[in-house]
Amino acid sequence: MIELDGSQGEGGGQILRTGLALAMVTGRPLAVGNIRARRPKPGLMRQHLACVNAAAEISDARVEGAVLGSSSLRFVPGPARPGDYRFAVASAGSCMLVLQTVLPALLLADAPSRIALSGGTHNPMAPPFHFLERAYAPLVRCMGADLQLVLHRCGFYPAGGGAVDAVIVPAAGMLKPFDLLTRGALKEAFAECLAPGLARHVAARELDTIGAAMGWSGTQLRSGVVRQNEGPGNALMATLACEHVTEVFTGFGEKTLSAEEVARRLVKELRAFQTSEAAVGPHLADQLALLLALAAWQSGRAAAFSCSELTEHTRTNCAVIERFLPLRFAIADGERAVTLRVEPIS
Ligand code: AMP
Repeated sequence: MIELDGSQGEGGGQILRTGLALAMVTGRPLAVGNIRARRPKPGLMRQHLACVNAAAEISDARVEGAVLGSSSLRFVPGPARPGDYRFAVASAGSCMLVLQTVLPALLLADAPSRIALSGGTHNPMAPPFHFLERAYAPLVRCMGADLQLVLHRCGFYPAGGGAVDAVIVPAAGMLKPFDLLTRGALKEAFAECLAPGLARHVAARELDTIGAAMGWSGTQLRSGVVRQNEGPGNALMATLACEHVTEVFTGFGEKTLSAEEVARRLVKELRAFQTSEAAVGPHLADQLALLLALAAWQSGRAAAFSCSELTEHTRTNCAVIERFLPLRFAIADGERAVTLRVEPIS
């Protein structure tokens, strides 16, 4: 039994999701206490419960404590079964986080899986659909596996109702580790605004503000195709397609924030990344740490990447990974990037 303290480090839902993912990958039972203890509303919320239930379904797990508000959970998985699944978050909670939970085990399975997801697709504090499609999925392909994503409908807080199909194809043999130390030359940069159910001027003001700050114009400033009834909601996304990696940064509209402020906050994130010499930003670093760890574990070979900032989120994720897999993360702070190397413990 691996016991995790949900209040450790960053103390959010990622500890639970990475714990569930690795419990299924390794077949080891998991006990988590103090779930999301550092969040304003601690314990299992609907979207976390949806992650636990999805994990239990694909691995026929025995579960104790899977109720709303629960602060502890025991999870005893069986072998993960690839197949066709349908997972819904019965609120505007992010269904992308459900995908994040089941993906590792299904990537290492012996057959492809298809998942129909519903819930939120563009939520603050979660990987948005376009981030997973443009930034994350290509890295899965670099490892010899595949992740195909189709967005049928956007889901925003508070209405939810988004719909996404995911096809997960495991690598033939094992996941191939790689090094991603530089992002390479910038090939394309553009901003895209999703603002269904909101006045037209919101998207125009966000795009004008980001365009003026970044020197972007014309086709670099796009209004995403959305139906009015997918809203109300607002996500402003900036995509930087570089030679070795694509990054997607997302800002979210809030009732109390002006459109200009939404864009200015996003510009700040973009500038921090562009000033660094790193391959990936802080959120992709979280996701890549787990992907590369799986590949390093399967292949017995080290892998490394550089990121613009090593957040408490990423550190906590690495600490959870080290509890399950015989791997060690080494961190090297450089002047304009942090390098994270994951190596098997011999
Ligand atoms: P937690 O806050 O512990 O529930 O974890 C949130 C997860 O969502 C982490 O894996 C973050 O890296 C990820 N995440 C949060 N915001 C973004 C964003 N704007 N783009 C991509 N990933 C994100």
